[in-house]
Amino acid sequence: MENTAGTCCDEVKENLTVERVAVAFLPTEWGDFQIAGYRSLISNEEFVALFKGDMRQDIPTLVRIHSQCLTGDVFGSTKCDCGEQLHRTLQMIQQEGRGALVYQQQEGRGIGIVNKIRAYALQDQGADTVEANVRLGLAVDLREYRQCAEILFDLGLCKVRVISNNPLKIQALEEAGLKIVERVSIEVDSSEKAEKYLRTKKEKLGHLLTLKR
Ligand SMILES: [Zn+2]
Repeated sequence: MENTAGTCCDEVKENLTVERVAVAFLPTEWGDFQIAGYRSLISNEEFVALFKGDMRQDIPTLVRIHSQCLTGDVFGSTKCDCGEQLHRTLQMIQQEGRGALVYQQQEGRGIGIVNKIRAYALQDQGADTVEANVRLGLAVDLREYRQCAEILFDLGLCKVRVISNNPLKIQALEEAGLKIVERVSIEVDSSEKAEKYLRTKKEKLGHLLTLKR
C-alpha cells in the first residue's frame, strides 16, 4: 500500500532498535561531513554514519551501507574493491552535496577479521572467497541490514538512491521499509588481484558487476 508523503517511515521510527548517541563534525580529504555514532539496543553492535546536507524524507537521497573491511578500507588491500568503493562513495556524496553512508562494523561479511585472514590463507592456496568460507565451516554472508535501514530513517531519510551492486542488500533495505527510488551502481577500477574476488562476487553471490574479461 502506498503511504502518503512525509509519513512513510513513522511506524518504523517509533520502533527503532538503534539509538543515536552522538553527532560531531568530521572534515575529511573528500569533504566535510557529520559523523553520528549509533548503538544497537538489542546487541553490542555499534554503527557509524557519515552524512552531509539536509536529510529530508521527500528528497531521494544518495545512501550506501558499507560493510567494514579492515584490509581494504584501512590497509589499502588490492584483494578487494572495498576501500575504493568507500572513498568513491564519499566523493559522490560530496559532489551531490547530500547523502549518507552507514558503516556497518561486520568484518568479512560478519565472520570477523581473524576468520577472514584464515579464509585468505585458503585463498592463497587457490580457493575462492565462497569456497574458503565453506571449507572453514563459516557462513558465506552473515550480514543483517535492518538496523542500517533504521539509522537512515533516524537520520530523517525515507526515499533513497542506493549505491550498491548487491541485490540482496537492496532487497533488505526495501523490506525494512525504505523506498528505493534508484540503484546507483558503483564500479571502481579493480586491480588484477581483485579480479578473482569480483568474479566470485558476480557469479556466486549475484552482484551486478561488469567484468573486464
Ligand atoms: Zn574488502
